Amino acid sequence: MTINNLCKTCGTEYPQGDESPKTCPICDDDRQYLPENGQQWTNYNELSTNHKVVITELTPVLYAIKIEPAFALGQRALLVLSEQGNILWDCIPLLDEPSIEFIRSKGGLKAIAFSHPHYYSTMNRWAEVFDCSVYIHQLDEPWVFNSGSSIQFWRGDEKPLWDGMQIVHTGGHFPGSCILKVDGLSAKGGLLCGDSLYVARSKRHIAIMYSYPNQIPLLANELKETIRKVSEQEFDTIYGAFDWQNLKGNAGEVFKNSVERYQESCLQF
Ligand SMILES: [Zn+2]
Ligand SMILES: [Zn+2]
Repeated sequence: MTINNLCKTCGTEYPQGDESPKTCPICDDDRQYLPENGQQWTNYNELSTNHKVVITELTPVLYAIKIEPAFALGQRALLVLSEQGNILWDCIPLLDEPSIEFIRSKGGLKAIAFSHPHYYSTMNRWAEVFDCSVYIHQLDEPWVFNSGSSIQFWRGDEKPLWDGMQIVHTGGHFPGSCILKVDGLSAKGGLLCGDSLYVARSKRHIAIMYSYPNQIPLLANELKETIRKVSEQEFDTIYGAFDWQNLKGNAGEVFKNSVERYQESCLQF
């Protein structure tokens, strides 16, 4: 019997059991929300019968991977192609045969790395298919409810990878929130940021919040710390978790202006 163990609101898959989990701790948290009619569950088989994966080229070495029609949080995962091994930044709940074939045709995955727990989705399925490691900051270990042998928790401020790429711990949105620094993405380097930085619809502001859907700000000391860590990076380009979050060439300037706005407001209380 198939148990409904995939949260319809956030797309997190919980371990198979005799019955559905009582609640989704990811959604039952101040940073998230449950629908008005309460917790809803589905399962992977159901998801795969009425949804597909769509892959879009953003640059010759960067692809966006999304579910259509939109499901749960509606985020994209980002596939970074690199000489010594490809990385999937964040994840989506569905993986279908055409997308497996596509990713394999580009050299498969060496690792999946995460910005934070909202996008863990079905990470163990992905890791099994591509026989790759999963990198999660150790401070977010309490949010991993479906542990798998591929998951590697790392500690500290930075995790150097290969070809000059590195995961940088920013904290803020979650204690273990991270960004991925990819030098080759643009002239001054690119950041893949998940929800650690949130590019506004106008593309003229970058928000850094405890909760985006619930509009809860960060504590001032946490905001300062995240700003400090991002400011240490050189970058001119940012790709976030959603379609419109592509800032090409002027991301450093937008970040600087956004920080000034924060300094003029909440940091002065
Ligand atoms: Zn959920
Ligand atoms: Zn989030």
